[in-house]
Amino acid sequence: MIVHFRDFWSRPESINKVTGWLKIAVERRASAVRASLESHAPDKMDEFDAVMKEVFASSEKFANDLHLQHHPADDKTFLLGFHPAPEASIGYLHMHVILMHPEFRQFSTEVHDWKTVPAQAVIEAIEEDAVTRRCDTRSTKPWWRRTLTSLGLVL
Ligand SMILES: [Zn+2]
Repeated sequence: MIVHFRDFWSRPESINKVTGWLKIAVERRASAVRASLESHAPDKMDEFDAVMKEVFASSEKFANDLHLQHHPADDKTFLLGFHPAPEASIGYLHMHVILMHPEFRQFSTEVHDWKTVPAQAVIEAIEEDAVTRRCDTRSTKPWWRRTLTSLGLVL
């Protein structure tokens, strides 16, 4: 996944793809929340629309800044990491790609940073366990699954 991401990021169309999908994701989420508010809390619509106006402006600024400062996909530019169970943001294994430069952290939340396990640390744990756990014939689970489970990345 890391190699794939770095290859993707090196391509000229990568920024437009990222910012395009970000815009679609924000629009879809806003649409879903707006529909829910219409039926459950119509008095909150004006407040929601005001917040979403700021969110759309922020995503436009992010897109513009990203085009102005396209960074290489090295270890200092991005943090690629996982959220272990039970604090995982969603119920299946997924990797976060976080743009780490301070000018871009204004667009992402830092409240989840404490639980983000760097992908490189996971790779190193898997490589270490590969030697010892591969030989464990008592378990019916594959060695790599036991490693991911012990790291809290899968249940
Ligand atoms: Zn997550």
